[in-house]
Amino acid sequence: MIKENLDIIRKTIPETVTLVAVSKTKPISDIQEVYDAGQRHFGENKVQEMTEKWEVLPKEIKWHLIGHLQTNKVKYIAPYVHLIHSVDSFKLLKEIDKEAKKNNRIIDCLLQFHVAQEETKFGLDFEEAKELIENPAFIDLHNVHIVGVMGMASFTDNENIVRKEFQQLENYFQLIKSYYFTFNDDFKEISMGMSGDYQLAIEEGSTMVRVGSSIFGTR
Ligand SMILES: *Cc1c(COP(=O)(O)O)cnc(C)c1O
Repeated sequence: MIKENLDIIRKTIPETVTLVAVSKTKPISDIQEVYDAGQRHFGENKVQEMTEKWEVLPKEIKWHLIGHLQTNKVKYIAPYVHLIHSVDSFKLLKEIDKEAKKNNRIIDCLLQFHVAQEETKFGLDFEEAKELIENPAFIDLHNVHIVGVMGMASFTDNENIVRKEFQQLENYFQLIKSYYFTFNDDFKEISMGMSGDYQLAIEEGSTMVRVGSSIFGTR
């Protein structure tokens, strides 16, 4: 069942778009099944859960932290995390840099933007993102690497709203790229799109979709 779901999703995603299989709340056996089908990128939203899974599953898995990250928990994932999608403050970025350095790593990060209508969603607005990058201490962070942006659209059936929010995130990406990363080819990722809206997200320029329930079933 899970394997069939994965095959269906893969057929609808261009090869240039990275599929992150969101395995939060799902057991090791489900993840192993998806891994055995060739999937390597997995996403989790909780530090402890992700770390427990990392410990027992194959080390070839690339783990994406997609949920809100508290500074005091960075140390647990710094040894192994592949990409942190949820950077929303300079303080957090600085902590990731510190822990990456301790582990002799450079950790890839995305800036999380707030584009949805709901107030509860985390993320930066455009001004806050500029302030973060223009922080005088930003250039001293040698062990973090900003490779793009991430965002979540509103929970709504209204396609127009969701599409507009994805367009806004894509626009933020282009602006940030032209202001700060013009000559940096590594700034290239737009992480947007979940089970309900990933096709729309791809139409609007997503390079990375985070799909959970359409692969693993409802949580
Ligand atoms: C849970 C989650 C997803 C996946 O959601 P589905 O609707 O199950 O595909 C994607 N992104 C984030 C940030 C999530 O927390």
